[in-house]
Amino acid sequence: MTHEQLSRLLEQTEWSDEDIVRVLALTDPEDCALLQQAAYRRTTALMGNNVYYRGLIELSNVCTYDCRYCGIRKGNHALKRYTMTLDEVVEQAVWAAEQGYGSVCLQAGERDDPKFVDFVTRCLRAIHEATVSDTLPNGVGITLSLGDQTPEVYEQWAQASGNRMALRYLSRFETSNPALFEMLHTGGGKQQKTLEKRFECFNSLRQSGYQVGTGVMIGIPGQTLEDLCKDIRLFQQLDVDMIGMGPYLMSQGGDLQEIGQMEPEPLLQLSLNMIAVVRLVMGPVNIAAATALQAIRDDGRELGIMYGANVVMPNLSPQSYRTGYQLYDNKPCVNDGPMQFASELERRIAAIGRDIGWNKPGSSLRWCQRVGVEE
Ligand code: SF4
Repeated sequence: MTHEQLSRLLEQTEWSDEDIVRVLALTDPEDCALLQQAAYRRTTALMGNNVYYRGLIELSNVCTYDCRYCGIRKGNHALKRYTMTLDEVVEQAVWAAEQGYGSVCLQAGERDDPKFVDFVTRCLRAIHEATVSDTLPNGVGITLSLGDQTPEVYEQWAQASGNRMALRYLSRFETSNPALFEMLHTGGGKQQKTLEKRFECFNSLRQSGYQVGTGVMIGIPGQTLEDLCKDIRLFQQLDVDMIGMGPYLMSQGGDLQEIGQMEPEPLLQLSLNMIAVVRLVMGPVNIAAATALQAIRDDGRELGIMYGANVVMPNLSPQSYRTGYQLYDNKPCVNDGPMQFASELERRIAAIGRDIGWNKPGSSLRWCQRVGVEE
């Protein structure tokens, strides 16, 4: 394909599977630069120049599941487990609100016992009460990433958040290929994950008013470009509002070392191509530049933004807990203080021509259009 043909292809609005696969496969630096520029332009045209922060609070690394790729799976007995206190969680959320973040994300290993459900409920109520201000009249926006729960629990948490207009749930299905999904998830935990269960949860989340996010791992050994194309088709079918995707990275705490991982540079390029293609095919969804990109290359997250991402998730978890929350090896910023990290990130984002959307919820434009609200 000539550069002219590729440029024309990248401007199209209806994509065939063949074109998606062809663009995911790009490796030539000039071709990749054309893709990057097209995705960046489309992002700007759809949603302006802002990148939004979600202050990430990893509130517990206790998990009842045993996903084989994951460093905090139940079967990793070498890991010291922690759960933050309610005060610690609220303190981090207030800090984020005071810095102008607009949103926080609460993430944890997966539990559905009443004690945990109640703990999250109390955290949400307290965060809302503590962050309502003149600057944030509805309090800080909340994203939850707490796995499969019942419709009643999703509703209970939505009520406790006090702000359904900036309420989101991120629940990645990791791969739409059933054989790969099984390979990744058949550990020895309490119960096995299924794609069907996850999709049922998406329906419940929508009914409680959440903006729904999902995502996949890119470059899983055995995964084909056609698999990634099917993942994108599933994003479309589920009509999701947010996408969080990252490269598949091996974890010493996981149980899958024998399958290895892709070489770093091709893995990074494939991940960036996937972000760009999702932007071009899906339009005005929020796309996160995953921290895992930075585990491959120091400027990985900035590259993610250049290829069409518009959300980043600075880690606010207290440093004493960070080493306990490593889903994959070489997780970056484990030793950075939040302030040090945030100012460095702001500088890096400004250097690639984007602004931080301070004190804004940064809701998915696709969701705003669907429910008929303006930010
Ligand atoms: S991926 Fe999530 S549910 Fe699976 S083991 Fe890791 S933290 Fe638990």
